[in-house]
Amino acid sequence: MDLDSLTIDSARTAVAERKTTATALAEAFYDKIQKDDPQIGAYLILSKNRAMETAGRIDRLVAQGADLPPLGGVPVGIKDVMVTRGVRSTAGSKILGNYIPPYDCTAVARMEAAGAIVLGKLNCDEFAMGSSNENSAFHPVRNPRDTSRVPGGSSGGSAAAVAAGMAVVALGSDTGGSIRQPASFCGVVGLMPTYGRVSRYGLIAFASSLDHIGPLARTVKDAAIVLRTIAGRDPMDSTSADVPVPDYVAELEKPIRGLKIGVAKEYFGEGLDSEVRNAVETAIEKLRSLGCEIVPVSLLHTEYAIPTYYIVATAEASSNLARFDGVRYGYRARNARALSDMYRRSRDEGFGAEVKRRIMLGTYALSAGYYDAYYLKAQKVRTLLTRDFDEAFKKVDAIVTPTSPTAAFKLGEKVNDPLAMYLADIYTVTADLAGIPGISIPCGETHEKLPIGLQILGRHFDEATILRVAHAYEQATAS
Ligand code: GLN
Repeated sequence: MDLDSLTIDSARTAVAERKTTATALAEAFYDKIQKDDPQIGAYLILSKNRAMETAGRIDRLVAQGADLPPLGGVPVGIKDVMVTRGVRSTAGSKILGNYIPPYDCTAVARMEAAGAIVLGKLNCDEFAMGSSNENSAFHPVRNPRDTSRVPGGSSGGSAAAVAAGMAVVALGSDTGGSIRQPASFCGVVGLMPTYGRVSRYGLIAFASSLDHIGPLARTVKDAAIVLRTIAGRDPMDSTSADVPVPDYVAELEKPIRGLKIGVAKEYFGEGLDSEVRNAVETAIEKLRSLGCEIVPVSLLHTEYAIPTYYIVATAEASSNLARFDGVRYGYRARNARALSDMYRRSRDEGFGAEVKRRIMLGTYALSAGYYDAYYLKAQKVRTLLTRDFDEAFKKVDAIVTPTSPTAAFKLGEKVNDPLAMYLADIYTVTADLAGIPGISIPCGETHEKLPIGLQILGRHFDEATILRVAHAYEQATAS
């Protein structure tokens, strides 16, 4: 069986029709991981016992002639910022290096309840802070298309595993682009749902008002199936929304003719690579030829998005990460002389450089005397950015942009220049700040055969429309 091209439906059907068993399929994926992952580094932890238990349950269902659930027997990977009962969950950090949680993240539990086989936990930037996966405390991830390049971040392991056929689909998280940007760098589909659409219970917090869980997949349909599985109100997360979840898969087939698609000049300015620009412009023409009306919109405050994001996100991170004190979770420094010394040394030894940088920036932005100038100001600009989208979505049904200004860069290229790394998040952070959904889908390659991503943004809780546009584009350009 060709593991690289399996989809949720083809994997599930193969199990249901007894062409393979869930157990044999999971074994095949573990063999592939053993063979290929040393070159890529996508997995941090394999959860083989748990996977085989679920696979056995699925195989018994087949033997009994019962119907398989929607993800029955489908091997999946989980970004290691989602906690898993009995399986080490590190957030890519040394401070949680040996942490074994007593409970499951809701999104993971829902995937498993739908029959998914959780193969293991996927590498990521420490606490999801980064755009290249080089901030993992364990090892970097390499882009399967070109192993001298980064897979993007922070869900680099999730994107690489899906691109390299080491999972059929994966869950990632997106606070400022961490699902969409790695999807774009690795040539896969990445969907960030609306804020509140998917429960954050059991997601190790980075910036709580910006954190989202969503799928990385090889097809838009697979992303729709996963979203249908994990979406919906969860009593364990008070910010999860009580909004009906449509049948995203059924919605895919609705025509896109007549939809109004917005294009904002603010997303095509300085710093955009010319090959990326050409690919995205060609994709826009394709949507026009499919019957969409292309409408110029203006997102005036876009130039303030990066500073706004890096104030709000770091402020929230500094507060969220205060809980890692050597007492309750994970790593504790040895030989401390007093309690305060234990806190200080545990955090100093447990956190990596980028996480410390963020904690310092965030603490500064929240401190007395600076709060009004930084944090409060950033919150006001966040409102303006959200209003830009509200206004635009009065005129259009979706907005298309590049996902990232460039294709995948080389390992080491930006690692010593945090500002350059931050600036590359320009097209993705706005959707997180506004809480709207966004998807990245492949739309061509550079002359070096590196994937390029097209981003489609939608109204709050209207994932159905962006999935539909993405699906229509994917079908129309399938080779
Ligand atoms: N690259 C962004 C950052 O470093 C986004 C991270 C994310 O979405 N988790 O904060």
